[in-house]
Amino acid sequence: MHGYNSTRMAGTKYIFVTGGVTSSLGKGIISASLANLLQARGYRATIQKFDPYINIDPGTLNPYEHGECYVTDDGAETDLDLGHYERFLNRPTSQANNVTTGRVYQSVIDKERRGDYLGKTVQVIPHITDEIKRRMLILGQSGDFDFVITEIGGTVGDIESLPYIESVRQLRYEHDRDALVIHLTLVPYLSAAGELKTKPTQHSVKMLQESGVTPDILVCRTEHHLTDDIRRKLALFCNVKQEAVIESIDAPSIYHVPLLMRKEQLDEVVLRRFGLPNEPAPNLRAWENFLEKLDHPSKKVEIGLIGKYVELKDAYKSISEALIHAGAANDTEVNVHWIHSESIDPAEMTNQLSNLDAVLVAPGFGERGVMGKIEAVRYARENNIPFLGICLGMQMAVIEFARNVLHLPEAHSTEMNPKTQHPVIDIMEDQKGIKDMGGTMRLGAYPCTIAEGSRAHEIYGELEISERHRHRYEFNNDYLEKFETAGFFASGRNPSTHLVEMVELKNHPFFMGVQFHPEYKSTVEKPHPMFVAFVKAAVNHKEAPAHQKSNHGRK
Ligand code: GLN
Repeated sequence: MHGYNSTRMAGTKYIFVTGGVTSSLGKGIISASLANLLQARGYRATIQKFDPYINIDPGTLNPYEHGECYVTDDGAETDLDLGHYERFLNRPTSQANNVTTGRVYQSVIDKERRGDYLGKTVQVIPHITDEIKRRMLILGQSGDFDFVITEIGGTVGDIESLPYIESVRQLRYEHDRDALVIHLTLVPYLSAAGELKTKPTQHSVKMLQESGVTPDILVCRTEHHLTDDIRRKLALFCNVKQEAVIESIDAPSIYHVPLLMRKEQLDEVVLRRFGLPNEPAPNLRAWENFLEKLDHPSKKVEIGLIGKYVELKDAYKSISEALIHAGAANDTEVNVHWIHSESIDPAEMTNQLSNLDAVLVAPGFGERGVMGKIEAVRYARENNIPFLGICLGMQMAVIEFARNVLHLPEAHSTEMNPKTQHPVIDIMEDQKGIKDMGGTMRLGAYPCTIAEGSRAHEIYGELEISERHRHRYEFNNDYLEKFETAGFFASGRNPSTHLVEMVELKNHPFFMGVQFHPEYKSTVEKPHPMFVAFVKAAVNHKEAPAHQKSNHGRK
């Protein structure tokens, strides 16, 4: 499919997406939807995000601040929007797809220290803007893409966004017909007046214009349809063609947005602006099939997600999206119960978890909420409830088994108790000397070899896989024999280091722990097999006769 249209392209086209009026309007989803439509027409499209904050990457940010930290194959810790890009395009992103102010300044300062600026005064313009522009063009210059969509984080008018807007202005000027700007804004509805209001958008566009950028296309988030009058008004006051005023009405899910954008002809307006043909129409059959299953599931399951950042759903974005993909693949609606690990009380366990068809213990860091997680694992193990433990979740499963089955009550991870007598989870040797927090974990894709005949083998259908990691601690292989003798198997190992990557219980309907993060690789086109199998296990659990389900007190 790809490349069909690419032959007609002379050079890469650059699309910049800015945001106005408020944050959280969904620039990432609009960017991903547009890329999706272009890809469905046979073009090669990619998306990158430029974030104006000073952190080098979001890896050191508390999930409450910025949601989940997404990890790419090449080990970049990135903004969660990159997860949307991969989920919508089914193509991996990399370090080059996410740049922050911190990273830009770091390279400029490194150059200054090396003497590269030959005694010149180093300034925001041109040195910082040149570095931003250089990075904005890298993916385009690779020759791999017909369209590079660049999402600018933050909202127009923020002090820290200014160098980015200035860089967009320059690139737009230098690339003229090969660059365009989309501005995403809000058209609020005032219920007292019973009207949609265009003024905030007018102000936001004026603000952009003060920086020398006039948007080519307005995408307007709204709760009510834009009338022709409103569209005319927005076009006139914001200096865009009326056809380029695109409505983005609230949708039942992010996955409906590409079709809404198609209906509003966002892709056609973009192609026309670049002088490209409108043929062939995008092939959206697979996407529509997915939506059909998403919208009309015949079954429903209740899955508990146990974590310590559950107040902010964005902290587990990739997991909840992976459950949505897996639900559609199973013709099943997945209703996620967000359970705070600190709220789990062993005495109340049955009340708290008995309505669930499956339990997922989430990744995480630090001591807080660990006891609740261990108790949740125990409940799932003893009551034959399908269980999936991801990263810290797998480590909790290991600790639970050591304490309650192997009779090692002291067993722990050295992350929580450095002096534990039984460090069943321990820091990796090569992590011991590391003092810096940023970018120093075991990050990115690593191979994993699966044991033949294991449940993992059944799930993946192959023996050599690759999954993404983000952690410092590991299963301590000194204990492996003890675990395996008791029925707790390492069904996935790293082929060269032999680190344990996957564990499973033989004597249980579905009990899987993974040291990696399968959620990062689930896409609409390719729902992740681990999540597909997990949701299927939840469906089986729900449908099983009552006497098979529970096995209270089983050890
Ligand atoms: N805190 C654990 C570790 O560093 C688990 C990390 C995670 O869940 N991503 O190993």
